[in-house]
Amino acid sequence: MKPIKIINVIPLLPTELEPIWHLAYNHWFTWNHNIETLFAQIDPLLWNQSYKNPVWFLNHVSQTRLKELANDTLFKERLNEAVEQLRLYTSKPSPHNFEDVKSGDPVIAYFSLEFGVSQCLPIYSGGLGILAGDHLKSASDLNVPLIGMGLAYQQGYFRQYMNIEGWQQERYPNYDFDQMPMRHVLDQDGNICKVHLNIGDRPLVASIWVTEVGRISLYLLDTNLPENPPEFRPITSRLYFGDNEMRLWQEMLLGIGGIKALKVIGVDPKVIHMNEGHSAFAGLERVREFMKGHNLSFEAAVEVAASGSIFTTHTPVPAGNDRFPPDLMQKYFEGYARDMGLAFKVFMALGRENPHDDAEHFCMPVLALRLSRFNNGVSTLHGHVSRNMWKQVWNQFPVDDMPIGSVTNGIHAPTWVSSDIGTLFDRYLGLNWREEPDTHKVWSQSNNISDSELWRTHERLRARLVDFARERLQKQLIAQGASSDEIRGAEDVLNPDALTIGFARRFATYKRATLLLQDKEALLRIVSNKERPVQFIFAGKAHPQDNGGKKLMQDVIALCRTPEFRGKLVFLEDYDMEIASYLVSGCDIWLNNPRRPLEACGTSGMKAMFNGVLQFSTLDGWWDEAWKDDNSVGWAIGGRDDYDDPDYQDCVEIKTLYNMLENEIISTFYERGRGGLPRSWVQKMKLAFKELCGQYSSHRMVNDYLKDAYMPAYKNFNSLCKEDYRAARELAEWRTSIMTQWGNVNITDVTVNGENSMFIGDPIKVEAKVFMGNLDSNQLLVEVCSGTLSQNGDFVERKIVEMKPVTDRQEGGWRLYQGEIEPKEAGRYGVTVRAMPHHALLSDARFLGLIRWAQS
Ligand SMILES: *Cc1c(COP(=O)(O)O)cnc(C)c1O
Repeated sequence: MKPIKIINVIPLLPTELEPIWHLAYNHWFTWNHNIETLFAQIDPLLWNQSYKNPVWFLNHVSQTRLKELANDTLFKERLNEAVEQLRLYTSKPSPHNFEDVKSGDPVIAYFSLEFGVSQCLPIYSGGLGILAGDHLKSASDLNVPLIGMGLAYQQGYFRQYMNIEGWQQERYPNYDFDQMPMRHVLDQDGNICKVHLNIGDRPLVASIWVTEVGRISLYLLDTNLPENPPEFRPITSRLYFGDNEMRLWQEMLLGIGGIKALKVIGVDPKVIHMNEGHSAFAGLERVREFMKGHNLSFEAAVEVAASGSIFTTHTPVPAGNDRFPPDLMQKYFEGYARDMGLAFKVFMALGRENPHDDAEHFCMPVLALRLSRFNNGVSTLHGHVSRNMWKQVWNQFPVDDMPIGSVTNGIHAPTWVSSDIGTLFDRYLGLNWREEPDTHKVWSQSNNISDSELWRTHERLRARLVDFARERLQKQLIAQGASSDEIRGAEDVLNPDALTIGFARRFATYKRATLLLQDKEALLRIVSNKERPVQFIFAGKAHPQDNGGKKLMQDVIALCRTPEFRGKLVFLEDYDMEIASYLVSGCDIWLNNPRRPLEACGTSGMKAMFNGVLQFSTLDGWWDEAWKDDNSVGWAIGGRDDYDDPDYQDCVEIKTLYNMLENEIISTFYERGRGGLPRSWVQKMKLAFKELCGQYSSHRMVNDYLKDAYMPAYKNFNSLCKEDYRAARELAEWRTSIMTQWGNVNITDVTVNGENSMFIGDPIKVEAKVFMGNLDSNQLLVEVCSGTLSQNGDFVERKIVEMKPVTDRQEGGWRLYQGEIEPKEAGRYGVTVRAMPHHALLSDARFLGLIRWAQS
């Protein structure tokens, strides 16, 4: 039976308390712990029960309690103060000088399939989503004119619990958006804004929600509407579920629907940032829009769209990237391609590494790479891995020259620093660490933090983690129907004074959650040492279809349940932002042992570091660039060797892991001086603050994107659009003509003046003859590459210097070019010359994919 009418019953909030809704509807509370305290204070039990959802919470507080608060002067004072702070925060005008942008107008739209903004908005599965959430929060703090675009999953990502066999079970609660900090976007007449698009030849409609993240609006599309056919309604039901076709629908909704939604809302951001390949159809839809709306050729429209696009790739394994088979693409994009005037094969080539291979699947990151003029991986090492992985896309280029750079991820410090450590920072670093966590000056004062205060604070956080874990374990046991003895037993698992090692992450195979278990003897030895006790806390989810991951998890859980390990190894179910925040602040060691180089960046370790938790990690992702070889800011597991045999790699690294633990980490932790302080441990905590916090905050990351990507993209985009897209049309034409002429370009007769051996610092003149046909020298970039050589004759490090033409164009199209190099190091030194097309409007010549090397 269904009701024929639905009404919203709203709690009767005393007028004096009404401003609290401002706080409840903005996720600002997730990084202003005083607001969370304010909510909790109203009814601590209910607050916990609410899954930290302020809207549901306020709707469920008893009327008696509300009346009480209405008469509580102190509470009302605090409330008004917090509301005023939020008002001041959100009303500051945007200071960024994007030319011709009105204050308040968004310039950048950030597209992502998941966002981890707060615990109560469970539309994230792991690192990718949390990163997107932190990106929004830092953009808010830095007042970057940005908005977010994503999907409103009715059931979010699954909630995890274990059955009695230790096998992961998934639960999908239905979230009630009306009880969450989000609202429908309404048009001027108060109607719900909706976006319409086609999935193949069938219409799909989505309503648009908005949720506020400080100053940033995050828009979320929702297909759960009666207008949609039953098979389309679940498109936004769950994150990462269903088959390939469902994924394709979701990505069409996010990309194509997202771009259309911007129009519906009435905003016109010039720059789009595609977070992972999932949203690459956004680039495509923009191309289509520019063609239709401004009568541009496909080529010109690509130039415009790509100039204003940023693409960030996150997946270092080919299999992890979305690929759709040709027949599926044909079903949904044949008409779309026709509409753009493209033969289907040409359309498919946009998503193929080899455009001539008709069997190749359509790959979303490849599409994104082709439709963006700024591409990046998420750590220095991952940038390198990505250039290798996508080398086919620009197959004429040496891997080092691929136009994929890197911007290392960071975390939003005010969200992830626990309030206890935060108070300590306030006192010793000044309040600036919250606003400017990316300045090294702030962190340079970490030395001043009192050792004993820092250690006491840390010990308090560890004790709190242990309490939290006990409470969770009891709940888990009750849910599993355990005996009352077992349930009571959970009251004294873990030791609040023991060295506590945290391991929490997705149970993806490459993260090697069970590496630790491969030497059970060593593990038993360290956890059963009475003088120097060590304990482990695990948490993490496996993808519902990943039975391999679930098996690993089952192994961990089975071990946790054995008598030898019970109480010293525990597994906390349902890893989410809340568990993460307890773990990254309460552990002593953050253990991370992915198989190098498969971790793109990793961010949980950064959260730990900001709380004084020390890293013990393989040299992968961010740790590869942050670690110092004297282990002064944390420890490394193994080195930077490449392994062909993964089993052998495991074998080597497990040995190193236990060696380091037993011989260094445990002894440093238990080396106590006066007052029970582990002096050198505390020094490491402080040195990590000082050396690393400035670099690994998401403020630094967003500032990098702003400076290196958003600002240049905005500028290029505008210059291509001016005067009815004159420059874009010109550039597209030039591109076509250079493509046809490029085959003739030739470089010969490279000469190096001087002897075969030279002294360091002697300038060397390099000359080359370049055949350029009808091209002018201003259409050509000629460079000399030089550098020391490895044993097998490859460049170890190259220096690139531009060469200039020294003669007029000769009869027959030849010209002489000259450049000068200065070897700075002794050894075997190599020299070569190359040419690329050049155009003033092209931000980066490499995107044409054309290059010519000197012939011997
Ligand atoms: C930070 C975080 C992650 C990402 O951690 P990795 O280091 O990338 O494994 C995943 N899940 C949650 C809940 C997090 O808070």
